Amino acid sequence: MQERHFLSVLLPVPVDRPYTYGSDRPLEPGSVVRVPLGPREVVGCVWPDDADSLPSAKVKDIIQIYDIPPLTPSLVEFIGWVADYTFSPRGMVLRMVLRAPGALEPETPLAGVRWAGDVPERMTAARQKVLDVAQGGLAWSKSGLATAAGVSAGVVNGLAKQNVLETVTIPPQPIVGQPDPNRPPLDLTDAQRAAAEDLTDQIATGGYQTVLLDGVTGSGKTEVYFEAVAETIRQGRQALVLLPEIALTGAFLERFAKRFGALPGEWHSDVGAKKRERIWRGVAHGNVPVVVGARSALFLPFRNLGLIIVDEEHDGAYKQEDGVHYHARDMAVVRGHLGRFPVLLSSATPTVESWVNAERGRYRHLVLPARFSGAEPPVLSAIDMREDPPERGRWLSPKLHAMVRETLAAGEQALLFLNRRGYAPLTLCRTCGHRMACPHCSSWLVEHRFRGVLACHHCGHEIRRPEACPECDNKDTMVACGPGVERLQEDILAEYPDARTLVLSSDMPGGVQRLRAEIAAIAEGQVDIIIGTQLVAKGHNFPGLTLVGVVDADLGLAQGDPRAAERTYQLLTQVTGRAGRKGQPSRGVLQSYAPDHPVIQALMSGDRDRFYQQECDNRRRGGLPPFGRLAAIIVSAAERINAEQYARAMAQAAPAGDQVRLLGPAEAPLALIRGRHRFRLLVQAQSSGVMHDWLHRWLTAAPRPRGSVRVTVDVDPQSFL
Ligand code: ADP
Ligand code: ZN
Repeated sequence: MQERHFLSVLLPVPVDRPYTYGSDRPLEPGSVVRVPLGPREVVGCVWPDDADSLPSAKVKDIIQIYDIPPLTPSLVEFIGWVADYTFSPRGMVLRMVLRAPGALEPETPLAGVRWAGDVPERMTAARQKVLDVAQGGLAWSKSGLATAAGVSAGVVNGLAKQNVLETVTIPPQPIVGQPDPNRPPLDLTDAQRAAAEDLTDQIATGGYQTVLLDGVTGSGKTEVYFEAVAETIRQGRQALVLLPEIALTGAFLERFAKRFGALPGEWHSDVGAKKRERIWRGVAHGNVPVVVGARSALFLPFRNLGLIIVDEEHDGAYKQEDGVHYHARDMAVVRGHLGRFPVLLSSATPTVESWVNAERGRYRHLVLPARFSGAEPPVLSAIDMREDPPERGRWLSPKLHAMVRETLAAGEQALLFLNRRGYAPLTLCRTCGHRMACPHCSSWLVEHRFRGVLACHHCGHEIRRPEACPECDNKDTMVACGPGVERLQEDILAEYPDARTLVLSSDMPGGVQRLRAEIAAIAEGQVDIIIGTQLVAKGHNFPGLTLVGVVDADLGLAQGDPRAAERTYQLLTQVTGRAGRKGQPSRGVLQSYAPDHPVIQALMSGDRDRFYQQECDNRRRGGLPPFGRLAAIIVSAAERINAEQYARAMAQAAPAGDQVRLLGPAEAPLALIRGRHRFRLLVQAQSSGVMHDWLHRWLTAAPRPRGSVRVTVDVDPQSFL
């Protein structure tokens, strides 16, 4: 009789512990298997933990072992690490890895035909055409052969029936081509070359190291990290490039293909399921050398990962705030550490955290001090809106209008930046003062005039714009308050009727395809005035752009968030940094009601490092990251009283400890989201280790949540709403 082996198998369900299954042979940890779970069958992963000792009769057998390489030991370790750090069940982290279930089945080969060597009994002109093509000896799909020969499918079918063409299987085409690292790169500047050599040396030597590639906007960071990618491919390893915004991938793919002669694998929500499965499979087998993707690409099952690049590392989009709350930049560093390979963080405006790590020597600091084109960065100035206010009901100061006019007259492009989607952030009744609010969230409904709706930006709830006030029933009394980008466009069209304007915002119909086309159109100079939300701030190259007007520079500063100053500094540096990339003199203008604010002053002074130094001093004093650690606990429930009571009970169960401070519970600023009432607690500690132990003890000691109460742990929170 065959020996039976007991294995631990982690399943992609909200459970931390692996389950035990039987198998007629031992399996390597990381092996991907199908197992029964109650009435279902699920895909799981053999885990290195010891199997529980259960009575043999109770243990069910594995159903299938998939024909893909086992997850690497460092990925298995990474899954455990992320789960532990984020206080998530390991099963939920595994679920992020096993995201493409269809990828586990082998790809079905295509049926094709090939010339069998004979001629048909009766030759016709059409048949001859087919043979002329097929006699080369290649295998063809039937439709491909018919098209190539210029005949109908019937002719090919007829020849197949007579066995003049034999049926063969054609292996599926590889999902991506092979990038060639040895194609000549662009001529790098001295600064670029020095940075590139540093990186390639690092990769050739091997081992873990995080590098901060810190270069002003337009300094050519992408070309530098392409050399790191090239060296990684030369070493026979895979590289991953994370981008914060999928609308950016269009231009990136083009540049990549120019450098390497082939496209990388693409991984984000807009890639179709079938293609995603093939990428997943190719990555697991090691056939896809380079992947460019969104944060979720960090959990792909690379066979031999040798480099991760986090482009625009400061971007908030790297933080996932549902399910497993993780920061892709931080977890990329962990993955590099466990896999013993370099991680490259790239930005013109690094986070304070990364900057401090670089200053302290924990990260290698590579600096590109000047723009590639040799151009000066844009000259920044502020318009004091108290002194130069816009006309009533308009949004641009006459001063900014004058600059837009100059720019248009010079045949150059202007960008007006307003970080507010839609037409107006608030709609109210002129008669009774009623404000249109979301019934499920504590937020106002934002008017989207283009689509004719009022929408909640938190839950997606939408209604048609009402004709009469829902409260007092008066007709035509609802008025829009404040501007969004759509409303700004109205203003611009009225002022510059002949200019070509375009609103660039993530929620316009047409999705990513349209966005990519629009970004390309701007880059080609087909637009005179661009009106955009933060989407325009990210990494684009718009060669004709020489003026950036920030319509409301104070917008982000009002938020009571420890990173408000840093974020505003980053966003406004990035958005103004879109100007003058081709070498022309360029300007950035900040409309502000508080031009003396330290952030506005820092932006205009151009003394970046002084701003970081000040920010560090503030954070050190407040014990804020990176000089202290934070974790947020969000308690939510269908009824307010239950959320509040549970949050209080949690606070009472908190362990003593003088190195940890617990703040709250307090009702969250966003007190209601999707019909759930929210309370927040904030934990502050001196170090990550201290915080982790303390949280662990606390979460174990806290009473079990009952009914609709849910507890979310957000380690290193980015949002405080
Ligand atoms: P960053 O990412 O630092 O903002 P990019 O890598 O996007 O900068 O480069 C800015 C522009 O300069 C791009 O259009 C890029 O193609 C061009 N560029 C950068 N380095 C070179 C080079 N060595 N030779 C030619 N063009 C370059
Ligand atoms: Zn809502």
